[in-house]
Amino acid sequence: MKKLAQKLIKNHSLSEAEYELLIKNRTPEIAEILQNEAVRLRKQVYGNEVFLRGLIEISNYCKNGCYYCGINCANKECNRYRLTEDEILNCAIEGYKIGFRTIVLQGGEDNCFTDEVVCDIIRKIKKNCPETAITLSLGERTKESYQKLYEAGADRYLLRHETADKTHYERLHPEKMSFENRMNCLKNLKEIGFATGCGFMVGSPYQTEENLAKDLKFIEEFQPQMCGIGPFIPQKNTIFANEEKGTAELTTYLLSIIRIIKPNILLPATTALNTIEEDGRVMGILAGANVIMPNLSPKTAREKYNLYDGKAITGEESAEEVKKLEKTMEKIGYKVVYKRGDMREYRKEDENGSI
Ligand code: SAM
Repeated sequence: MKKLAQKLIKNHSLSEAEYELLIKNRTPEIAEILQNEAVRLRKQVYGNEVFLRGLIEISNYCKNGCYYCGINCANKECNRYRLTEDEILNCAIEGYKIGFRTIVLQGGEDNCFTDEVVCDIIRKIKKNCPETAITLSLGERTKESYQKLYEAGADRYLLRHETADKTHYERLHPEKMSFENRMNCLKNLKEIGFATGCGFMVGSPYQTEENLAKDLKFIEEFQPQMCGIGPFIPQKNTIFANEEKGTAELTTYLLSIIRIIKPNILLPATTALNTIEEDGRVMGILAGANVIMPNLSPKTAREKYNLYDGKAITGEESAEEVKKLEKTMEKIGYKVVYKRGDMREYRKEDENGSI
């Protein structure tokens, strides 16, 4: 196993079969080797900086029926809400005043957020919050739609692929959703010029080590600018209510591997990780993540954006939360920075033969 870890460190690449072995036969010793390398690479590219993204959850209406997700359209218990344009803009301005220079607009696939509406919001945020990057996470849309959002000024787009295995995808989604379309959307986003993010849940129902190996190979080949991974956490009104949740141990192990695969990737320590572990953000950063996404949504919206049970909601004002985060990061030797936080260059030549 040590040889396999060294091979990954040297080549930033393994075969699918090798990734599977590295996951199946992991030990605390291998995890430590990979974690140390992940931290070394992250420091080489980003120093001790941690980038912030201000997350605004714009709507929990969704036309899709993803089996794992608490806001899926079949959930009649979900208390639906949709922020108005003014509310979204106010959240963004509030975040801007605190110092955020990336705003993430995330939501279910809500037909009310037409291209026209979203483009208008993008333009207004750009006008009111100069030098701010806008990340969208609004699900699957047509290439023409993505193009319009890009032209309106959106910089980045997050669309987790959820699983790189078609059969597994079909066990997590109803028939009318398609693996091919999800993957095609990611391809389109990249072609248009978005900084593109993919990702998956760790420990989702039916997931095997072979599936995870495919996820890693997909990341290696697709070369996304961002990757969001977090543990699957069951939500009580979904058909997966009684499934096991994912673990922090495997999530952090995979975070380290992803950092090694792509040393300059923008990798968040996700809210889901922070939900299953009190110090999940710290664990994520120490495993190789370099991004944290505090929530800027109004408190009432945060409570209704129930993707899974027990979501970490601090209830604090965003400004207060960020001050606390600064201190938490300082304690482990990192610094929260207030800038756009775009992906930086990584050049293997700069390694000076240190591997
Ligand atoms: N609708 C957009 C989309 O599909 O990309 C964005 C919103 S969607 C709710 C954001 C992400 O939440 C999904 O990509 C999924 O990986 C994650 N998610 C949903 N349900 C979850 C659960 N039960 N546990 C952990 N993560 C979950």
